[in-house]
Amino acid sequence: MRSQDIRKHFLEFFKSKNHSIVPSAPMVIKDDPTLMFTNAGMNQFKEFFLGNGTPVNSRVTDTQKCLRVSGKHNDLEEVGKDTYHHTMFEMLGNWSFGDYFKKEAIEWAWELLTEVYKIDKEILYVSVFEGNEEEEIPVDGEALELWKKIVPEDRIIFGNKKDNFWEMGDQGPCGPSSEIHVDLRSEEEKAKIPGRELVNQDHPLVVEIWNLVFIQFNRKADGSLEKLPAQHVDTGMGFERLCMVLQGVKSNYDTDVFTPLIKEIEKITGSTYGKNEETDIAIRVIADHVRAVAFAIADGQLPGSTGAGYVIRRILRRAIRYGFTFLNQKEAFVYKLVDTLSKQMGEAFPELRAQQNLCENVIREEENSFLRTLDQGLILLDQIMQETPDKKVSGKKAFELYDTFGFPIDLTALILGEKGYSLDQKEFEEELQKQKDRSRSASKVISGDWQEVNAGETEGFVGYDTLEAEVKIL
Ligand code: ATP
Ligand code: MG
Ligand code: MG
Ligand code: MG
Repeated sequence: MRSQDIRKHFLEFFKSKNHSIVPSAPMVIKDDPTLMFTNAGMNQFKEFFLGNGTPVNSRVTDTQKCLRVSGKHNDLEEVGKDTYHHTMFEMLGNWSFGDYFKKEAIEWAWELLTEVYKIDKEILYVSVFEGNEEEEIPVDGEALELWKKIVPEDRIIFGNKKDNFWEMGDQGPCGPSSEIHVDLRSEEEKAKIPGRELVNQDHPLVVEIWNLVFIQFNRKADGSLEKLPAQHVDTGMGFERLCMVLQGVKSNYDTDVFTPLIKEIEKITGSTYGKNEETDIAIRVIADHVRAVAFAIADGQLPGSTGAGYVIRRILRRAIRYGFTFLNQKEAFVYKLVDTLSKQMGEAFPELRAQQNLCENVIREEENSFLRTLDQGLILLDQIMQETPDKKVSGKKAFELYDTFGFPIDLTALILGEKGYSLDQKEFEEELQKQKDRSRSASKVISGDWQEVNAGETEGFVGYDTLEAEVKIL
């Protein structure tokens, strides 16, 4: 089944259950000071859960453009290394605002997966919230009983608060969830260890596809829970993961959501996907990141030096750096992928087509400017090597190059290694730590799915990593 049809079937299924199909909200959020990017389907409906406003229908469904690169949901470092986390992805969802509850949500999810999409029941596992004594939250017995009517008990797993309890923040609506996981391993692998033991263990072939959240409590300021007068359902299914299952492949990148992009990357860079892990990671990073960046620009968010723009710039520079280092791309090339992306996704997301020229121009400019930075860095690194006859480059020097000139540390290490120089990584880390401590004063609060952000703070971006360096020069 083509991805286009998979998306359509989802929406039409819920339409047949009296849901209104609504458009995706923008991925870049402009009017919420607490959240920079949409990171889940429910974001645009937040006010309805809080009891403010009335939805068009008490049942809605959509596919939502999400970006998970900051705050509680930051998957950036996984992207490319694994095959099922993206920066930008689509989350298919169905909602009940004070309408149906667990019974329908569970039964319909099962019906859609096993009868419409015809997924083999034998590869599915479901999870139920196990309860939490400390916080006096009961086990989700209701969901357990409902699932027991549908699936054998050995397919039901109990999950902890981290995986199976959703909260909007320190206060407010919350509730248990049931997740659906798939086991795509070979029979031989399955014989070695049962799939239920691998659920939520970061196994690349035993992955979560759908999360059904049952919003039934309100957490009060004193931490206690009270029953909500109206109960809600909030579900989210990863579209690309669903495509992986339905197209019989073992990686999101082998679905038709990504193969046109990957073919184009192979063509432009003269590389081959599937031969060498390092190259594959680079290709996946680029295929993923061009989507995040193009969708952001199409939403009106240009790369920049603060706030959301800074995050987008960082993502693009990560793609450029992977191309530069592992695919030998010394000239702008990421912008050339926008055409393929727009052909692939333009029907579902017309804004991509409408903004194609802008996306290409902005990305090309960004690429050229960052490539100039990299060139400058290479010259400076050459100088450092000349000034270091004992071939032992200090962490301080590398940090200077990183901090003042924006030169990525892993590139420094790579080049030094190739030329027979060593690098004091430990000292570099110490310098980095000192810098982190200095900027920590600009602290932010992460509570639940909402991250407090200050659009003026470049330090607001969470997660220092080896890639931090690449965006120092803005
Ligand atoms: P995971 O445990 O795999 O990181 P999650 O529990 O963080 O997923 P949810 O917040 O429950 O994910 O989101 C609902 C669904 O969205 C998940 O079941 C999954 O299919 C999908 N999803 C979540 N994060 C990503 C991502 N980074 N890329 C692609 N799909 C994702
Ligand atoms: Mg996650
Ligand atoms: Mg999870
Ligand atoms: Mg989940």
